[in-house]
Amino acid sequence: MKIHLLNTGFCAASEHHLLRGAARHPTTAAAICMLLEHPTRGLVLFDTGYAPRVLEAFKTFPFSLYGRLTPVTALAEWSAAAQLERLGFHARDVHFVIASHLHADHIGGLCDFPAARIVLTRAALNVSRLRGWRALRHAFVPDLLPADVETRAWILEDFADAPLGAFGRAHDLFGDGMVRLVRLPGHARGQIGAYLPTENVLLVADGAWSMRAIRDNHPPDALPLHIAFDNAKQTLETLGKLHRFHLEHPAVRLLPTHCPQVAALVKSGESVAL
Ligand SMILES: [Zn+2]
Repeated sequence: MKIHLLNTGFCAASEHHLLRGAARHPTTAAAICMLLEHPTRGLVLFDTGYAPRVLEAFKTFPFSLYGRLTPVTALAEWSAAAQLERLGFHARDVHFVIASHLHADHIGGLCDFPAARIVLTRAALNVSRLRGWRALRHAFVPDLLPADVETRAWILEDFADAPLGAFGRAHDLFGDGMVRLVRLPGHARGQIGAYLPTENVLLVADGAWSMRAIRDNHPPDALPLHIAFDNAKQTLETLGKLHRFHLEHPAVRLLPTHCPQVAALVKSGESVAL
C-alpha cells in the first residue's frame, strides 16, 4: 500500500511547548496528513491537514482565540485537495477520511472531500456536536466540519479485534488487516492512530509531537498539557504506550503528525511517497 505524506502548512509554536524543558525558541509545527492507496478500497486519507478555510474560521469569535494561540500559514495550493490533483487524483476519489481527532490542523481540509466517509470515534462525534465555548474547550471549530457529517460518519463504537502491543485491542477498519486503528486518548477526546502492517508504519497523530518525545518518553510542556489537552493523565499514559511500543517494535516507523523529523522529509505544499 503506497503512502504519501502531504505537508499542508504550519503554525507558529515555541520549542518549549512541544517538549518540556526545551528552549523558548520560536519554531513551526507542520500539519502533515497521509494519503494511503489501498489496493481494494481506493484512496484513504489519514487526516486532512490545514486549508485556507481554517484562516476564515479563525476570524469568528471565540475561535479567533484559537487562531491567536496557533498562528497558521496555509495556502490553497498547499491543501491536501490541491496536492491530490498534482498527484493525478481528484478529491472525489477519496473514499474514506480517517479523522484522528477534530483539531483544526487535522480536519482543516475535510470539506474538500465530499464523497468520503468520515471515520471517527463515537467520542469524537460527540465533540463534533458542541458549539461555541464548549467546542473551543475541545479546540474544535464547527465551521470546519461538513454539514452532512452525521450521515457520512463511520462511527467506531468498539475496538474488539486482535490487540496491538501496549495499545490493547485494535479495530481492523476494512477487515483485511491493512489498517488497524488504535486508541490514543489524552491529547484530544477519542483520538486514534493507524497501524499499517504491510508498510510497518504507525501513524501516531498527536499521540506525541515528536519522535524524540516517544524515544525519551518526554512529555510536552505543562501549559498545553493541562490547559489545551483533553486529559493530561491519559496523554502521559498514551506517550508511555508509544514509548513501550517503540522499544518492543523498533522496526516499526512511527509518524507523529508534527514531528520535525517527518517535516524534514517534505516541504510545505509538497508531498513525498514513503
Ligand atoms: Zn495536531
